[in-house]
This record gives sequence, C-alpha cells and structure tokens, in this order.
Amino acid sequence: MDQHGGLSTDLLAWQRHAACRGLEAEIFYPPDSDGDDEAAFEAKAVCAACAVSGECLEYAIAVREKEGVWGGQTAAERVRIIRRRRRAAARARNAQAAAASN
Ligand code: SF4
Repeated sequence: MDQHGGLSTDLLAWQRHAACRGLEAEIFYPPDSDGDDEAAFEAKAVCAACAVSGECLEYAIAVREKEGVWGGQTAAERVRIIRRRRRAAARARNAQAAAASN
C-alpha cells in the first residue's frame, strides 16, 4: 500500500506510478513536518525521484489535503502555494479589469 491508502480509481490512476508504493506511510506523515523541513527530509527525497510528483501535488492541493507530504511539499508548503496562486489570480483579474476599463 502506498501513502494514499491504495486508492485505485481512474481519478487517481497516477498513483500506480507512485514512488512511495510499498513504503511505510509514516515516512510521509512525520511529526512536526510543517515547521521543520528536516522532519520531512526522507519523504521529500522519495518524492524528488517520483515520476508523478506533479500529479500528486495537484491532487493534494485540489482536495485541500491537510496532512502529510504530497508531491514533495508539506501541508504548510501547500498552503503557501495555494496563497501564491490566489494572489497571482487576483493580480491577473485586476489587470484584466484595468485593461477592460481603458
Ligand atoms: S510525489 Fe511523493 S507522495 Fe506523491 S506519489 Fe510520489 S512519492 Fe508518493
């Protein structure tokens, strides 16, 4: 079983290629990983060599996964990614609105 609990729907077909398959899930849920990058080091090393890390990260962001390392990112790092994307989307909307009003 991989860290995702062995789900195998089409939506999660990428998990068949997960580098974490067969590894202990605990590796991906280190204590205090949000504030301590060292704690997530082992999981991040596995994710760095994973062929589907992008899909994994986007899935975790889409479902707002609150725990664990997904796609090489801790929960706190995913929150920062989401905030950056929201700010970028807001800037793009503002730029479009400004362009439309000219
Ligand atoms: S990126 Fe990491 S957590 Fe995601 S599937 Fe790959 S090894 Fe597993």
